[in-house]
Amino acid sequence: MKRLVILGGGESGVGTAILGKKEGYDVFVSDSGVITEYYKEVLKNFEIEWEEEQHTESKILNADMVMKSPGIPDKATLVRKLNEKGMPILSEIEFASRYTTAQIVGITGSNGKTTTTMLTNHILKGGGLDIGMAGNIGDSFAKQVAENDTLHYVLELSSFQLDGISEFAPHIAILTNITPDHLDRYEYQFEKYIVSKFRIVMNQKEDDYFIYDADDEVITKYIEEYPIRSRLLPFSLKKKVENGAYLEEENIKITIDNNEFIMPVANLELKGNHNVKNAMAAATVAQLLKIRKTTIRECLENFHGVEHRLESVLKINNVQYINDSKATNVNATFYALDAMKSATVWIVGGVDKGNDYTELYSLVNEKVKAIICLGVDNTRIINAFGNCVDNIVETQSMKEAVNLAYKIAERNENVLLSPACASFDLFENYEERGRQFKEAVREL
Ligand code: ADP
Repeated sequence: MKRLVILGGGESGVGTAILGKKEGYDVFVSDSGVITEYYKEVLKNFEIEWEEEQHTESKILNADMVMKSPGIPDKATLVRKLNEKGMPILSEIEFASRYTTAQIVGITGSNGKTTTTMLTNHILKGGGLDIGMAGNIGDSFAKQVAENDTLHYVLELSSFQLDGISEFAPHIAILTNITPDHLDRYEYQFEKYIVSKFRIVMNQKEDDYFIYDADDEVITKYIEEYPIRSRLLPFSLKKKVENGAYLEEENIKITIDNNEFIMPVANLELKGNHNVKNAMAAATVAQLLKIRKTTIRECLENFHGVEHRLESVLKINNVQYINDSKATNVNATFYALDAMKSATVWIVGGVDKGNDYTELYSLVNEKVKAIICLGVDNTRIINAFGNCVDNIVETQSMKEAVNLAYKIAERNENVLLSPACASFDLFENYEERGRQFKEAVREL
């Protein structure tokens, strides 16, 4: 019996354990932190051995194969030791994909993964395909393969998941964009992060597809330097493409081998240029998988978006309150400001991961009437924007920030929470930050 050791007892770890057990492995789960009661119960039910708050090396180094949760960095001592021994270390995605024959749509990028994944799933499901959705959303891929395997999957893939693949090859890959993020895990070298994202096409063949943002110079430059085997289907807001998606007079037009799909941008339920791109990518997949065009249109018209992503909360005194708490980097906030159609009171701040705010200057000059900083240390924001906006204030709680925004915003304007920073100084996570925003707005 082969021994499968799993490092990390969260959703992907426990899912892999269930699948490993089903496939006849001797499974052991080890977590250096505490495993939640819920997962402990699951492991018990499946009679899987586990440990927490430690890594017992004698039970780990004797593995035949190790699956590492994406949260554990390569520089962790134990991972280094395993690498030195030449132990194969896989990600959940690699492991699970070996036990399904399903056709896979894999979605990666710095921003837009979740939105594009959910939108793609929504259209394919609407078209009647037998489909599972996984990644950072809901049940893990491995668990679904073990318990409820489907003919198709849409997978949201982080660069960390991709770092742990060796043979995994999605039939359709999407790369939404690449901007600097998570560089702490890549020795502060953007180049390494780029290479990691492109692993999504690494094992693709000639009859597979690669859908990507042709307006993203990081992506196009890489493709020029390292030609890609699969068939390219770019999308663009700026230029016409022969095969792929582009804008033609306020319409989304998608052409694949002379087969055309067309839809007015105004009919999209999701707002903002970034969502036009996400819609192009999702609709391209749907067209490849032969979903009816009327179904694709209908689904793009009735998809309401994902919580904490440019989410309309309430209109009070004709002021629109928008929750974009998931904007944890500058690029996401760029698209949020870009989507604002009138003057905006902008709530920003948190843990700054070394942001370069210059790309926001022109949007801020044009659209932002006041900045409300919400963070423990707001120096970098004040330094960056002190000269573009007269009204810039500091706050230390969401309630205070929202109350102040309420006083400043006037009819037909917006109040936008789009922090461009991580949330860990004042909040548990971005979800908590977004929930507090919505609560404070509802209490106005
Ligand atoms: P991810 O899963 O990659 O973090 P999300 O769909 O959760 O992406 O969106 C994260 C943030 O990025 C949100 O603020 C959202 O409005 C913004 N966003 C969504 N799609 C894009 C895109 N294509 N380009 C830039 N920003 C985007």
